[in-house]
Amino acid sequence: MPAKTFYIETFGCQMNAHDSEKVIGTLIRNGYSPVETPEEAGLVLYNTCSIRDKAEQKVFSRLQQFKRGSGKGKVFGVLGCVAQQEGERIFERAPHVSLVCGSASYSRLPELLVQLEAGENRVTGLSLNRGETFETPLTRRDNPHRAYITIIEGCDKSCAYCVVPFTRGPERSRTSAGIMEEARQLAGSGYTEIQLLGQNVNSYRDPSPAGWDFATLLSRVAAVPGIRRVRFTTSHPRDFGRDIVEVIDAHPAICNHVHLPVQSGSDAVLARMQRLYGRDEYMRRIEWLKASPRNISLTTDIIVGFPGETEEDFHRTLQLLDEVEYDSIFSFKYSPRPNTAALNLDRAVPEEEKGRRLTILQEKQRSIQIRRNSALIGSVEEVLVEGRNAALGQWIGRTSQNRVLNFASPATNGDSLLGRYVSVRVTRAGPNSLVGEAVLRA
Ligand code: SF4
Repeated sequence: MPAKTFYIETFGCQMNAHDSEKVIGTLIRNGYSPVETPEEAGLVLYNTCSIRDKAEQKVFSRLQQFKRGSGKGKVFGVLGCVAQQEGERIFERAPHVSLVCGSASYSRLPELLVQLEAGENRVTGLSLNRGETFETPLTRRDNPHRAYITIIEGCDKSCAYCVVPFTRGPERSRTSAGIMEEARQLAGSGYTEIQLLGQNVNSYRDPSPAGWDFATLLSRVAAVPGIRRVRFTTSHPRDFGRDIVEVIDAHPAICNHVHLPVQSGSDAVLARMQRLYGRDEYMRRIEWLKASPRNISLTTDIIVGFPGETEEDFHRTLQLLDEVEYDSIFSFKYSPRPNTAALNLDRAVPEEEKGRRLTILQEKQRSIQIRRNSALIGSVEEVLVEGRNAALGQWIGRTSQNRVLNFASPATNGDSLLGRYVSVRVTRAGPNSLVGEAVLRA
């Protein structure tokens, strides 16, 4: 094995981002040091995403760059969802790869590194049934203000378009004691915002005798001294209970933002997607959230062009946007994925038609967002300052509702506002963010 230096590039979701933080912690504990570029590194790792074909192809185009000699003496590894999905086929497709490890096997990384250091060139970690979660004594966190905590890994649902059950395995929840200890440690090291992560956080069930459910866990994390904000993602409407709304109402530290993926507004499409809820059941949850005194911001995920989606189905989705008025949406064209049930469905929607529907959907949502954000002009919002846009001379803040609010602040005597909570009056609004000015307290 060349020098114990490593480079890691991460693709995909927040779960992957946090997995990489833990993988980096594991590498550092095993004597590796991070470098900035793959060219400098002895070990080059890609933590991959397989949610859509485009995402999957990214890792192979990266590996291609090192195919002709420039990768000589380096060790390459593919981690994450493409690793689990493609397994040993990756060695054929990219013979210069020596490590293929799925997220359900990360706790074996130390022993896999020993195999690599011994010169083995086909090292794998591909078991999905280990029944354990990836916990490591050291997590090298990228964001100094908001800390991720994974509470549950894998998923027991089988949405017809989704690769996650095949790439991350069955659900396994961490113990409440382990999560609470991590939350206290984070508060102790100065974090004020925590984001609880899982493919489906609502189905969290504490495996220890305490037996906490998600609502209980959420309320306890919110009560940790020093924690001012708690976020959670991703929820599943089927498991999203009223008790969660009641906990949000009762705990101001829980941010008033809920991401509740709907995917489609049509019952026919939801049934073909195997989402396990219908439009009415979903709307009932939206009513609970809208009735909350906490003015909860709503966001969602939508797929257009799922096999069998008719023009009328699509219009049901557009109508849903008008009914719910989300503050933002993540919207995608359906992408056929390996191993998923949707591959066998008939009535595929042509690519061009998927594109037409996506454009219409995004334009409608854009006008909703402009109207909703404009309604905030003149209001005062509290933001956690996460960054600085030097070019614009603005600080970048995020509200409890998860809106980005860029603002100017009179001279702070050079003091950085990063990590601080600042009150900001909204002066302008765009479709995806707000602009304002700091409100100076006397
Ligand atoms: S709930 Fe459905 S979409 Fe979400 S991770 Fe599980 S299978 Fe995928």
